[in-house]
Amino acid sequence: MVVLDHVNKHFGDLHVLEDINLTVKRGEVVVVIGPSGAGKSTLCRAINRLETIDSGTIEIDGVSLPAEGRPLARLRADVGMVFQSFNLFAHKTILENVTLGPTKVRRLQKAQAREQAMALLERVGVANQADKYPAQLSGGQQQRVAIARSLAMRPKVMLFDEPTSALDPEMINEVLDVMTDLAKDGMTMIVVSHEMGFARKAANRVVFMADGKVMEEATPEEFFTNPQTSRAKDFLSKIL
Ligand code: ATP
Ligand code: MG
Repeated sequence: MVVLDHVNKHFGDLHVLEDINLTVKRGEVVVVIGPSGAGKSTLCRAINRLETIDSGTIEIDGVSLPAEGRPLARLRADVGMVFQSFNLFAHKTILENVTLGPTKVRRLQKAQAREQAMALLERVGVANQADKYPAQLSGGQQQRVAIARSLAMRPKVMLFDEPTSALDPEMINEVLDVMTDLAKDGMTMIVVSHEMGFARKAANRVVFMADGKVMEEATPEEFFTNPQTSRAKDFLSKIL
């Protein structure tokens, strides 16, 4: 589903992604962890084409960019992304936030988009907030709307970049629960998160990054109980 092959990226002298090789199969959930500055966000942004890469290839569902005749917007619609900050459209209602993309990019009829949006808002537990504006919702509710908005585009893969790190502690689980359900439902997911409980529960694999490199790849069980590199051991000792 997602294949990164010898991906390299520099910011000036900084080698921010160094020969990244990563394959995520359909329905797989991969949790990416690692210290600040490791390149985790850059990796997500590269997969979503918010960043260019210097060399290597990134393939989504068999299509690598640049692909002839396939607009970037369409390819990007296949990759949902949820960021640390909620990024909802502040001047649109919750319902409008979720119907906008499907009507504009996926060319869904208004009534159909609305029906789909209400079902998704129901699924993430905020259907009763549909007519409110983002600022009237809690952080946890806003983040669940952000997930619903991404899902409305019917993505083939979902990227999450520290989706709970801006939330108050009591709201973290309501977002992780939605993500866990999504994982159980068979969504292909790449999740940057230091929530070990989520990784243990939902991840098929943990990828540990440091200094722009993938240092380790293992099952959560293997990784948390028996990390191989000193970088990973050091990192885990700080967060566990
Ligand atoms: P964090 O855990 O703090 O979110 P991260 O693993 O997501 O870290 P990135 O945001 O991918 O790390 O950044 C990796 C490195 O690239 C950092 O040293 C960062 O300062 C640098 N960097 C990121 N974006 C840019 C940019 N647009 N221009 C220059 N340097 C950048
Ligand atoms: Mg980051």
